Amino acid sequence: MPKNITRRLFLRDSAVAGAGALLSQRLGELVDRDGSRRTPGEATTPIIVSSHRNETGHRALEAGWEILQAGGSALDAVERATNIIEEDPEDTSVGYGGLPNERGVVQLDASIMDGRTYNAGAVASLENIKHPSSVARLVMERTDHVMLVGPGALEFAKSWGFPEEELLTDQARQYWLRWRERHSDRDDWGPPDHLRERGGADAALPADWLETYGTVNVLAVDGNGDIAGITSTSGLSYKIPGRIGDSPIIGAGLYVDNEVGAAGATGRGEDVIKACSTYHVVMRMRQGRSPQEACEDALRDIAERYRAAGIDFMPGEKFVAINKAGELGCARTGEDDPAQMTVATADGLEIYTGTGLF
Ligand code: ASP
Repeated sequence: MPKNITRRLFLRDSAVAGAGALLSQRLGELVDRDGSRRTPGEATTPIIVSSHRNETGHRALEAGWEILQAGGSALDAVERATNIIEEDPEDTSVGYGGLPNERGVVQLDASIMDGRTYNAGAVASLENIKHPSSVARLVMERTDHVMLVGPGALEFAKSWGFPEEELLTDQARQYWLRWRERHSDRDDWGPPDHLRERGGADAALPADWLETYGTVNVLAVDGNGDIAGITSTSGLSYKIPGRIGDSPIIGAGLYVDNEVGAAGATGRGEDVIKACSTYHVVMRMRQGRSPQEACEDALRDIAERYRAAGIDFMPGEKFVAINKAGELGCARTGEDDPAQMTVATADGLEIYTGTGLF
């Protein structure tokens, strides 16, 4: 197993043990902004959900909800909500402010899927464009292709008038500089050997280590019952230049089926690609599983594949899903840390808690 994968998992997704063991399973729960709790009752639409739970995530869903409430489309709602998250400079995992690749360059991946038209679009390794999800939407609507990558994606974005901008914020640069100095003691980055132990030359760099997973999934069902979704990310922090994760791959980071529902993935993309995880979630729902059950099925599927190969390994993943009726589901790796997502409906803004497994 590559060394960096082990390190990522143990630092950030510490619940990695006994891939076969199902350690916890709880019923979903909704928590209102005032803290009151209830188990999800009647499913309701329109609805918009996001894997993000921070203040920006809340603002994003409020903006998406306004569109749905006014009778707008799920597609417009997920794009508006995602754009707000992509613009947040504090968010080190999506869009502007995202952590860069190992050379200090921010490379973004995003996908969009429109259930109504059974259409999809994506961009990968896109540099210097703040709203990759909107470029993905244009790939979907204004070309006969599904995915554009790297310089071709950038040229396409510029042709539609997207401005080129530096996406590396000072905060993200500082984290990257620290990573460059600290990720190995076998290169020449960092203070000279004879001063290394004193630590003084390190003082300007952030004290904490930041190496994250992080991506946003936004899924919605509108008043017509049409379903759309977006997944947008800066990918794995300090990745090898050109590495593309699951987020821009339809069926991996995102899948939408207008008759059934939608699913999005966050976490170690390599496994989500191999397991076609969001397609798996949506197909389970098509077979009658609830969104919650389907998310758990897809997590177990990954664990079982490693177990079948004789390997005790469970990557850090999170799946979120909704079905056409507005039922909810989310599950992640980590029994002590159940998956959550933000939900906006006519009932207001709530946090849904799903399960943590393994
Ligand atoms: N899934 C994303 C990727 O592999 C990363 C993440 O969700 O943190 O690129």
